[in-house]
Amino acid sequence: MKSWKENIRRIDPYVPGEQPDLEDMIKLNTNENPYPPAPGIIKAMKEFDFDKLRLYPDPTASMLTDSLAKYYHVDKEQVFVGVGSDDVLAMAFLTFFNSKKPILFPDITYSFYEVWANLYKIPYERPQLDDNFKINKEDYYKKNGGVVIANPNAPTGIYENLEFIEEILLHNQNSVVIVDEAYIDFGGESAVRFVEKYENLLVVQTFSKSRSMAGMRIGFAIGHKDLIKALNDVKYSYNSYTMNQVSLCFGVPAIEDDIYFKETLKRIIDTRERTKVELKNLGFSFPDSMTNFIFATHPQIKAIDIFRALREKNIFVRHFNLSKIDNYLRISIGTDEEMDKFISALKEILC
Ligand SMILES: *Cc1c(COP(=O)(O)O)cnc(C)c1O
Repeated sequence: MKSWKENIRRIDPYVPGEQPDLEDMIKLNTNENPYPPAPGIIKAMKEFDFDKLRLYPDPTASMLTDSLAKYYHVDKEQVFVGVGSDDVLAMAFLTFFNSKKPILFPDITYSFYEVWANLYKIPYERPQLDDNFKINKEDYYKKNGGVVIANPNAPTGIYENLEFIEEILLHNQNSVVIVDEAYIDFGGESAVRFVEKYENLLVVQTFSKSRSMAGMRIGFAIGHKDLIKALNDVKYSYNSYTMNQVSLCFGVPAIEDDIYFKETLKRIIDTRERTKVELKNLGFSFPDSMTNFIFATHPQIKAIDIFRALREKNIFVRHFNLSKIDNYLRISIGTDEEMDKFISALKEILC
């Protein structure tokens, strides 16, 4: 092997869900929001000053951090924004997880955590979920270099209440605890309310799912100002301008239009609850989801076979070829019409 090849940083990358671009497809594979972004964004787009693109954007992203601070009732020094929550989380791993002790996250969770841990050479342990895919909080009551919990968890969809999260915080006051709340808006209660009480808590959220802006790439973290300062120090050591001018301008109306936001959330939650009933009638079982997806398995037909049959019909869901979950499908919640078509397709496949 050529010596330069020996020095390459080798990593098994995260594999995102596919982004097919077919005319007549139902895309339920990446937990995108089926509804358009807030109407205020169209206005912002029309009024956008293109001359601004000549200039570097505000490195502090203050338009967006101010707007988020106001919405979540925290100081702007407690808010950090990034290029999707993936960017925020990657930065947080790099910033906070520098111990020789392993960081802890569940064996079944957002698979990017393991990729970042490998990329940054952070030691880690993955305590197992129980047989019902629930997190055993006691697994996190030991010495560690940090804790990462997705709440609700992905891809299971299971939400744990704030008492559960607080127990984990109480037992981990000497390490940074990241709570990834990518799906919190779909019915859960945010741990943001704990950031005053626990200065080692970093709550991470995204505009990609509940705010219909996966294509814009905006994520954010809320925590104690010392955590946010540390994140910014790493950011400025890496790329000062993560947030482009367009994201800054379009992100603000996405926060401000709260009525539209709540309306679309309600529609997705209603559709999710209806889909749960339909899936149950077809014999599927699934953990109770508080997200915009359902993680379902069928007692007779293998998940991979259903996945393939749906694909034939241009209906895309997500299948993970990983042990323990390879007989499950993660089904994102689309519009009512999309879910009706999806259920009809399932009926054809199952009979
Ligand atoms: C989707 C998702 C993210 C990343 O979302 P971004 O689009 O990068 O903001 C992070 N964590 C979990 C659990 C997710 O499902």
